[in-house]
Amino acid sequence: MEYFPIFMRLQGEPCLLVGGGEVGLRKARLLLSAGARLTVVSPELAPELMQMAARGELVHLAANFEPAHIGDYKLVVAATDVRAVNRVVSDTAQARNIPVNVVDDPELSSYITPAIVDRSPLVIAVSTGGGVPVLARLVRARLESMIPAGFGRLARFAAGFRDQVKARFGNVEERRAFWEAVLEGPLAEQVMNGDEAAARDDMQRRLAAADTAPAGAVYLVGAGPGNPDLLTFRALRLMQQADVVLYDNLVAPELLALVRRDAERMFVGKQRANHTLPQEEINALLLRLAQEGKRVLRLKGGDPFTFGRGGEEIALLAAKQIPFEVVPGITSASGAAAYAGIPLTHRDHAQSVTFVTGHKKDGSISLDWPALTRSGQTVVVYMGLAMAEELCQAFISHGKARDTPAAVVEQATTPRQRTVLGTLETLPALIRANSISSPALIIVGEVVSLAPQLGWYRSSAEGA
Ligand code: SAH
Repeated sequence: MEYFPIFMRLQGEPCLLVGGGEVGLRKARLLLSAGARLTVVSPELAPELMQMAARGELVHLAANFEPAHIGDYKLVVAATDVRAVNRVVSDTAQARNIPVNVVDDPELSSYITPAIVDRSPLVIAVSTGGGVPVLARLVRARLESMIPAGFGRLARFAAGFRDQVKARFGNVEERRAFWEAVLEGPLAEQVMNGDEAAARDDMQRRLAAADTAPAGAVYLVGAGPGNPDLLTFRALRLMQQADVVLYDNLVAPELLALVRRDAERMFVGKQRANHTLPQEEINALLLRLAQEGKRVLRLKGGDPFTFGRGGEEIALLAAKQIPFEVVPGITSASGAAAYAGIPLTHRDHAQSVTFVTGHKKDGSISLDWPALTRSGQTVVVYMGLAMAEELCQAFISHGKARDTPAAVVEQATTPRQRTVLGTLETLPALIRANSISSPALIIVGEVVSLAPQLGWYRSSAEGA
């Protein structure tokens, strides 16, 4: 290890910054956010630094740097663009054993500053030893996406219970089990969602009962249309902490690969023999697993509340007061539209968009045809592939023009995406000719005519 990492307390401590330009401004902000009492030496100041000085947030010494400026400081930062000046700052500070950093100049620095992820009081510092700052920033960007915004709140909340927990559990093992159950369970999610009052009650109850058992919860998570890049941060995080995952056909293998390796995987979709676990059994299974204290991830294609039976799956949990959460996902209509270059609304072509399901109920397609055939709108049909012929016919027989543009998008947003463009009259034959299969969406409306111009995504399936 070339550098020894430490976190230094600067609250109320005098620090010196030499240089008042843009780089100086960045450093000043950072030092002030750590509570430093800051003096800036520089003949001139960037406008924002000037305002900070006017507000009394820092002291400005309008002068060229001289060694005599180095007084009794805890920390010195040099941020001028003249290396000779930076060198004098560095030499003077080091002669007095004051830690000094020259921005982007490890050679002249006695300490270097890391890239940081700030979820105060949780702070993560990343360093590549000053060699490749860009790499440290890349690592930081990854961490930023992995660590939820509410983590600082959680850290503060937990710190507030530290003494109480210590007093309650003399045994280190027990204490660790308690904290793990709390920090990885629904209580932590509650805190991060801002419901600290409920979390505090729960915490007191757990402390009173010396309860170290993990609390089960169900996370109903939208996995988006198939492309892993379209997951939300929250979905990814919950995928990586689940104990068990229930998934079905719509969840692409690329997505399942992102679930925590140790998590138990349960397939609850259509089997080859076309047998599907009845919805009631899935509901009961979710309940049982959560009651066993598991963090259950119910992973759904697209968005769980859009033709996803999400409402049915959580009803039983709500009734039994099992903690659950719903995480929205990008619904396949949005994914398909974006990746096929078909804006769902457009000022010239469609003022509204309607999502419908082509699923038959009692053997016929029961949809509100007078509403669906009105002009100036886009209609997206989910689960409509098997009856594409009847659907297109119904649009026409209810008054839509035969040459109304219509498209089918198969496996939208994935490398296997295929888009076929036609009209209400030609689409069914095109679907057959191209052997389009599920999952696929049918999009009907004038906006489809924009696809040749606005389509930008070339999947490997279409490139072939
Ligand atoms: N909750 C899902 C929809 C479930 S219904 C969502 O929000 O997208 C299942 C139907 O969704 C499929 O029959 C198909 O019409 C559509 N679908 C899901 N993923 C798709 C994809 N990647 N490409 C095209 N259609 C998709």
